[in-house]
Amino acid sequence: MSYSRANIRLAMEILSERKAKAELTYSKRREEITNKIPEIGKCLSQMTDISLKILDAAQSEDFQKNLEEIKQTNNRIQDLIASKLKENGYPEDYLEIPYTCKKCSDTGVVGRDTCSCMKDLLNQLNIKDLEDSSPAKGCSFENFSLDYYPDVSLDGKSISPRAQMKAVYEFCKDYADDFDADSGSIYMHGETGLGKTHLSLAIGNAAARKGYSVYYASAQTLLADIEREKFGREKSAVSENKALGCDLLIIDDLGCEFGTQFSAAEIYNIINYRINQSKPFIISTNLDWEELEKKYSKRVASRIIGSCSNLKFIGNDIRQIKSFN
Ligand SMILES: [Zn+2]
Repeated sequence: MSYSRANIRLAMEILSERKAKAELTYSKRREEITNKIPEIGKCLSQMTDISLKILDAAQSEDFQKNLEEIKQTNNRIQDLIASKLKENGYPEDYLEIPYTCKKCSDTGVVGRDTCSCMKDLLNQLNIKDLEDSSPAKGCSFENFSLDYYPDVSLDGKSISPRAQMKAVYEFCKDYADDFDADSGSIYMHGETGLGKTHLSLAIGNAAARKGYSVYYASAQTLLADIEREKFGREKSAVSENKALGCDLLIIDDLGCEFGTQFSAAEIYNIINYRINQSKPFIISTNLDWEELEKKYSKRVASRIIGSCSNLKFIGNDIRQIKSFN
């Protein structure tokens, strides 16, 4: 799983805000209780003294014995505070620092490991990135309907679009369920409006929810961004780095971009790099194998053909059917 530096920084900022907020709440509560219930104020001062004793005990020869005594005293004082709080109508844990994550006290780390709260945050940021850069929000396996595909075969084909698309759907669902950083790649081809973008993003959503970084872009946008970054005034490689480095790359509508030597070379570079690194990608396109070869050269086509599962989408344009209903 990979997370962008920007998201790691953002997650750390969120955690540190949570921590600061919890500690501020604690100090306000402490002041309130000290003023209202002086007995608890005394207990809190005793606990501060105990912290100092622990430091002293660390230097003594009877370290373990002293430490045990100090701990027992500390527990007694804590019990007293809890019962006094209850007596005065407060929750017993009112003077505990209200961290969002008790496991790591909102630091994001437990021992040497990353805490699950930090992982959850990073996953949420991955999902947000995908949703911000694509229409991913409305695309899931649950809302993909096979009803739009005719259940009688068209053009004398032996299989009906519904049966074909059921197989495609099941392949995609299994792929998403089993997705990991070493999964294979997919070539989705067929006419416009047959659900290629929907299913590729349903996979993307599932992968992002598992904590994988997913980068979605139409071929046209991706190539235009890379070209601008390479040859524009502000040199950077944000889009190319994302396309190369993400756990799952989804290139939508390959073939709809303006074909140039640059675009063909760049597509080859991205695909070739990802294949060599065993990093999965999904291509959706209106082009069949022959058209792919014609548009991008034999080298590009054979590299894609050799590394992808081939999913053929058939049926009638769903967008048109929906607009008539
Ligand atoms: Zn945590």
